[in-house]
Amino acid sequence: MSISSFHPPVRTLMGPGPSDVNPRVLEAMARPTIGHLDPVFVDMMDETKQLLQYAFQTSNALTMPISAPGSAGMEACFVNLVEPGETVIVCQNGVFGGRMKENVERCGATAIMVQDDWGDAVDPAKLEEALKAHPEATVVAFVHAETSTGAISDAETLVKLAHDHNCLTIVDAVTSLAGSPLMVDDWGIDAIYSGTQKCLSCTPGISPISFSQAAVDKVQSRKTPVQSWFLDLSLVMAYWGGGAKRAYHHTAPVNALYAFHESLVILQDEGIENSWARHAKNHEALKAGFEAMGISFLVDESCRLPQLNSVFVPEGIDEAAVRTELLNSYNLEIGAGLGPMAGKIWRVGLMGFASNETNVLNCLGAMDAVLSDMGAKFDSGSAVKAARASFSS
Ligand SMILES: *Cc1c(COP(=O)(O)O)cnc(C)c1O
Repeated sequence: MSISSFHPPVRTLMGPGPSDVNPRVLEAMARPTIGHLDPVFVDMMDETKQLLQYAFQTSNALTMPISAPGSAGMEACFVNLVEPGETVIVCQNGVFGGRMKENVERCGATAIMVQDDWGDAVDPAKLEEALKAHPEATVVAFVHAETSTGAISDAETLVKLAHDHNCLTIVDAVTSLAGSPLMVDDWGIDAIYSGTQKCLSCTPGISPISFSQAAVDKVQSRKTPVQSWFLDLSLVMAYWGGGAKRAYHHTAPVNALYAFHESLVILQDEGIENSWARHAKNHEALKAGFEAMGISFLVDESCRLPQLNSVFVPEGIDEAAVRTELLNSYNLEIGAGLGPMAGKIWRVGLMGFASNETNVLNCLGAMDAVLSDMGAKFDSGSAVKAARASFSS
């Protein structure tokens, strides 16, 4: 047997992530590996921190990438900020709120769940009720942009309610960062985590986080040690925040951090507001196209994410067969529904580098052809036409 090099096909990634990686990021990743304590590398890490503060719109000193995917950023927030015996209020309106509950319980704490229907935003009134019923709560956690449904919640209002009841906040911004307005300092978010593979146009595997001073104070006044050695921020901080005296903690994923740095330079060059506007504009055109095909959205317009479009599968259409055909004939990946939404919706991502005019038009054209072949009834050609009209309006 002889196994040779792996050469993946070139796909267009319009699912829930990973999304298309900017070629500049892939090129950065291929640059020579140097030592992670090399002064040149340390300077690049300092730049990365500044660029990340811009992306998060924060001046938090503890702002850095965790060397692992978004799920590790989630875990880092919980294991550092939650001690055994505490009560944490978790707002759930999709898959990722359920993972927050898992994290809380594995920290030896009690999770009070505030449930909203999948596809709805988190209801601030329900959070307020839970805060009143549980004055012992110390932390409120919620997902800003629920990737399982495509709903965005009003983070500013939820954080304010939590603070009114003396709770710190943990916010999942894996899908929202760079795709939807997000102001860590203005909104007073205490701990936030994200991922590189959604709207940052970077490869998967890095999780940026940021902690406010109040969050750092809580970490520093813990009565029990953080049960995770790798994610204990008091140790990681000495590495990332140590400047020239940086101590060895773990070997940084050197080339992955070149990629991350490059993706943040690209974001800085575009401007964060322009990135938000680009995601909104491309969503409008995709929406016009879907509506022309008679395809409707799961999420109400008032809380609909531009970067993750959940749309209902038309009557009588085999949703998995459509995705297979898109992948095989068009090299186009879109996402399936999760949990209660499995089989009912597709999740079409317009994230980061993938959020562009060409992808919108190609996706609509491909779906038009595949759905027409499968006997769906709509005016073929109308979707691309509607999207083109949206772009030129
Ligand atoms: C993708 C995602 C995660 C997990 O990120 P990984 O990099 O896959 O670990 C967490 N939360 C949300 C909202 C996500 O979309």
